[in-house]
Amino acid sequence: ATPIAIVSGLSRVARRGVLVRDGGSLELLGRARTLMMDKTGTLTAGRPRAAETVVPPGGDRDEVLRLAASVEQLSPHVLAAALVRQAREQGLRLGEPTEVTEEPGRGVRGRVDGRVVAVGQLSGDLPEWAARTRRRAETAGLSTVWVSDERGPLGAILLEDPVRPDARRTVRRLREAGLDRLVMVTGDRPRTAEQVARAVGVDDVVAQCSPERKVARVRDESGRAVTVMVGDGVNDAPALAEAHVGVAMGATGATASADVADAVLTVDRLDRLADAVEIARYARRIA
Ligand code: ADP
Ligand code: MG
Repeated sequence: ATPIAIVSGLSRVARRGVLVRDGGSLELLGRARTLMMDKTGTLTAGRPRAAETVVPPGGDRDEVLRLAASVEQLSPHVLAAALVRQAREQGLRLGEPTEVTEEPGRGVRGRVDGRVVAVGQLSGDLPEWAARTRRRAETAGLSTVWVSDERGPLGAILLEDPVRPDARRTVRRLREAGLDRLVMVTGDRPRTAEQVARAVGVDDVVAQCSPERKVARVRDESGRAVTVMVGDGVNDAPALAEAHVGVAMGATGATASADVADAVLTVDRLDRLADAVEIARYARRIA
């Protein structure tokens, strides 16, 4: 039978907006030593704002944003939603994309107005304007979405995604509650990632981490200590499933991550995670 302290802990965390699957998950949450967190949508507010579009000489900013938003219309990614919102606000008329495919943690690709357009990360050698743009964006802590066609990059959209106002305090409370290793894992680039990591005070950052590498990282950490993974995106679902306790940002994140999670934050507040850990630790101590 489940100890009464655990049963009561489950209802206490639920009153704080954290739905924990069962007593076993609550006990693990109370024993955890390692916490892994996604960046975008978990430590940041997850409502990025398209701050600026950069194009090479002769390029067309509106057209770059319009093509990107057209291809992104079907993507569940938070960056996609930001681009579509921005394009609509500017009154741009979106095209109807066909043959759209998404590579999780990298971006989307599709055909718009007869052109094949790729939106997301860019690898390989960059032309001078693009290399300069990348350096400037990373120094400013902005995320970059590249828009390319068959011939190469057409432009870059720089997005700003502020750290959650309660992130730093939550990280401190989690540490005080006994989590002694806090790691941020993100698909974003190292310098942008490090700025967020420094702002919230985590111990370690793993950047340019594909969904598969997130899973491998969680498996690694889980072999050493009881590990919690918190994430919001479809991309995070496999890593949530791999952790001892997977926590989904349920109020803002994709439902795919909530489906595999052991716990769901039903309110858009990171500090409720600290509440849940404190309640789980207390419940376990008195059980
Ligand atoms: P995070 O781990 O920070 O939540 P993701 O793994 O979801 O990030 O994505 C990693 C990177 O891949 C993003 O920073 C972005 O550059 C790119 N990316 C992924 N999906 C998309 C998309 N739909 N549109 C544009 N860029 C994308
Ligand atoms: Mg995310």
